[in-house]
Amino acid sequence: MSFSSQTKAELCSAKIEKKCCAVAECYGVLMYCNTYSPAEIRIITASDAFALRLPKLFRKAFSLSFDVQPSESAAGKRSFIIKERSKIAQIMDAFGADIENHISHHVNFGVLEEDCCRSAFVRGAFLSGGSVTDPEKRYHMELATPHHSVSREVYSLLLDMGFSPKETKRASNALLYFKQADAIADFFTSLGACTAAMNIMTAKVEKEMRNTITRQINCDSANADKTVMAAQAQLDAIRYIAREFGLDALPEPLKDAALLRITNPEASLADLAQLSYPPVSKSCLNHRFKKIMSFVPQDSQE
Ligand SMILES: [Zn+2]
Repeated sequence: MSFSSQTKAELCSAKIEKKCCAVAECYGVLMYCNTYSPAEIRIITASDAFALRLPKLFRKAFSLSFDVQPSESAAGKRSFIIKERSKIAQIMDAFGADIENHISHHVNFGVLEEDCCRSAFVRGAFLSGGSVTDPEKRYHMELATPHHSVSREVYSLLLDMGFSPKETKRASNALLYFKQADAIADFFTSLGACTAAMNIMTAKVEKEMRNTITRQINCDSANADKTVMAAQAQLDAIRYIAREFGLDALPEPLKDAALLRITNPEASLADLAQLSYPPVSKSCLNHRFKKIMSFVPQDSQE
C-alpha cells in the first residue's frame, strides 16, 4: 500500500460521530472530488478505506445514498455517483448554495464555524483530492481541485488553522501543497493521522542522520587524501636530496625527519611527531619538512 493510501486509511479510521462534522467532511469531499455540479456528483477513489467510508458519511450527513455505488468488494478505481436532481439540490442547500442559480463554487465558511468541522472539512478534501508522497523519497503533500475559487478559499482556511501552504496550478487543477516534513506532519497531526505524522518525522530524522554520516565519511576521506598528498611531496623532496646531495648533507634534525618519513610513508604528521625521538611537536616537524622541501628547486616541483 502506498504511503498516501496508508494515510487515507488512517484518516478513515476516525469515527463519524457528529452530524455537523459529517456535513463538513462531505463538503470537503465534494469541493475536491471529480465532479460536483447541478447535473452530477461523481467521486472517484482508489482508496479502499475511503470507498467504505463514503456511503456512511453521506448517510449520516444527508440521510441519502449514492445512485451508483460499487460493491464493497470492488477494487481499483471506483466511482460513487449521484444523478438525482432532488438529492443534489438537498446537498447544495446544506451548504447554502442554490441548484437553480449555480455559477461557481465557493466555500461557505458559515458551515465551518466549529473547529471540529474545519478539521472534518480538510480531512474530506484530502481524502477526495489529496495525496502525500512517501517521505523516504521526498516531502510533498498536495490538495488538488478543479475549482480555483475553492482552492483560494481553502488557502485562507488553512492559514486560519495555522498552516502556510504554497499555491500553484497543474493542468486544469489548482493546487495547495506543502514541501516541508514538519509542515506535513503538523497537518496530519491536526487531522488525527498521528502515525503518518510520526512516520514523516522518523524518515526526516533518519535522512538527516544518513547525511551527517555521509558528510563525515567525505570529510575523513578528504583529509586522508590531503595526508597522502603531503607525504608524497615530502618523499619526492627526500628522494631528490638523496640523489643530488646525499641525506648526510642534511642537518641532523632534518635527516631524522627524512628517515622517519621514509620508514612511515603513509603516516600523518601528527603520527610522525609521536614516533619522533626525541619527541617533537607537530608544528616543529612540519617546519622541518618545509625546510626539506625548500631544497627542491621550484621548477622541478610539480
Ligand atoms: Zn463538527
